[in-house]
Amino acid sequence: MKVVIVGGVAGGASCAARLRRLDEDAEILMVDRGPYVSFANCGLPYHVGGVIEKEASLLVADERLFRERFAIRVRTRCEVTSISTENKTVELRNVETGEVNTEPYDKLVLSPGAAPIRPPLPGIDLPGIFTVRTVPDARGIRAWIEATKSKRAVVVGGGFIGLEMAENLIRRGLDVTVVELLDQVMPPLDPEIARLVETHLKKHGVKLALGDGVAGFQKSGEAGLEVLTQSGKAHPADLVILAIGVRPETSLAKLAGLALGERGGIRVDEHMRTSNPDIFAVGDAVEVKDFVTGQWTLIPLAGPANRQGRIAADVIAGRDSRYRGTQGTAICGIFGLAVASTGASEKLLVRTGEKDFEKIYLNPRSHAGYYPGAKILSMKILFRKSDGRLLGAQAVGEDGVDKRIDAMAMVIQMGGTVQDLEESELCYAPQFGGAKDPVNFAGMIAADVLRGDMPLSHWGEDGFLLDVRDPEEFSGGHAPDALNIPLNALRSRLGELPRDREILVYCHSGQRAYYATRILLQNGFAARNLSGGILAREILLPK
Ligand SMILES: Cc1cc2nc3c(=O)[nH]c(=O)nc-3n(C[C@H](O)[C@H](O)[C@H](O)COP(=O)(O)OP(=O)(O)OC[C@H]3O[C@@H](n4cnc5c(N)ncnc54)[C@H](O)[C@@H]3O)c2cc1C
Repeated sequence: MKVVIVGGVAGGASCAARLRRLDEDAEILMVDRGPYVSFANCGLPYHVGGVIEKEASLLVADERLFRERFAIRVRTRCEVTSISTENKTVELRNVETGEVNTEPYDKLVLSPGAAPIRPPLPGIDLPGIFTVRTVPDARGIRAWIEATKSKRAVVVGGGFIGLEMAENLIRRGLDVTVVELLDQVMPPLDPEIARLVETHLKKHGVKLALGDGVAGFQKSGEAGLEVLTQSGKAHPADLVILAIGVRPETSLAKLAGLALGERGGIRVDEHMRTSNPDIFAVGDAVEVKDFVTGQWTLIPLAGPANRQGRIAADVIAGRDSRYRGTQGTAICGIFGLAVASTGASEKLLVRTGEKDFEKIYLNPRSHAGYYPGAKILSMKILFRKSDGRLLGAQAVGEDGVDKRIDAMAMVIQMGGTVQDLEESELCYAPQFGGAKDPVNFAGMIAADVLRGDMPLSHWGEDGFLLDVRDPEEFSGGHAPDALNIPLNALRSRLGELPRDREILVYCHSGQRAYYATRILLQNGFAARNLSGGILAREILLPK
């Protein structure tokens, strides 16, 4: 059996190596148009910033390793230009010499990835405007910074890659402005969680121009540029990074007449098989089923690409492996802050018309408060009201974000509920977590809501506002019209509260309000806890 794999990075390389482990006899040819296979594209921003100093560190495995260890033939600087599904051949073109040859295949795997979007805006081809996808891209950006002694950069796009680039350019001493069309950074997050990231970015010197799209680029001065926006602003820049998203590479698939999906990616079944039974496709180029909503979507991430490559290899080798869908579990580090999410966001649920869900906010510590170094985690959890199924989680913080989101990702994948979070037995010692871990807390709060132990309300709803913080906290800022009765005085001051109105109780982040809500409910009041406390109000309500 001869298997040709197009694209030799995340999906392609993982498919090739897995296939060899399953089939010693298969003839495997892996082709990439770039100079390297199996390079760490996720490390590119850190190479630009100098955290990963040596370019060679980005090269995870080379042609020689594939040849000697896995008996896989690799051709780099070689582009697959067409597929003949009738003859079962691909046409290869040597990118350097232009030489063309034809290779037959029994099975073909497409893992061509996704190309950074470069919109046809005025001035888009001016020197100094870069995208970040390959090792030569990173090399080019470093060389440009050194050659032009760049001082100001504009990053267009406030997603993961844009923000990683912003951090790394600041690290190199550049003044950085992020221009983003949406009115928030990090599109997978809900806006109120993204606000926390924006505050952190500003604290570290990143200028944010949100809610403003780029209209074009023009030359300014000697080597300088200006980034022009739709609102009429001109941001000066010596260097521009375009990070406005990626588009699945589908040109080959189109030429071969393979079915594409509604979102423009290659359509595959759960075995990663395209509409042609001998052609598989994996990675950023394919549409996937959103694990939570069940809808087709595009989620370009390294983990899914690797797993899909492995599944395609399994299926080619005769196994019945199936891809379960993509949850979009992702994390990004920005100036010491970790920002992570898994599953559905609230805005995605709203967009898909979902009404059967509830959300909670919580701000637990990353580990026992009495042990030095504990940091606040800001978390948002989404779950189904009817059966408690966990739908999504987002977290931001300086410590312990990854393990909480990973635990939640696993619960989502297993179709688990907030009660499962409540009952999760997680590792604990004071420096690592809490005897009630933030994951347990999230489950307890959500399950209390479902059991009716803690009726929940959200900022903006109508009711009598009760602030149960201490007076000095109250005087530092509170919701208009709120009455302040500190939690410890509540039992003796119940007479001050109305019995004919619903009481919406808040504190700093929700814990004292929960205790107060329980007191009020047991004393016959109609009370609900304002989710997330005054912290959430600051984030959620417009100033
Ligand atoms: C800067 C950056 C940072 C990232 N950080 C993260 C991260 O932290 N976490 C995360 O989960 N994901 C991250 N990603 C995304 C992740 O790298 C991708 O999801 C993953 O690499 C996709 O794998 P793939 O195999 O589909 O495509 P790729 O890894 O992009 O590989 C596709 C390869 O196919 C080659 N190719 C395309 N067409 C042809 C053709 N016709 N002939 C021959 N070769 C062809 C391309 O040259 C390319 O080398 C990052 C991406 C970038 C660019």
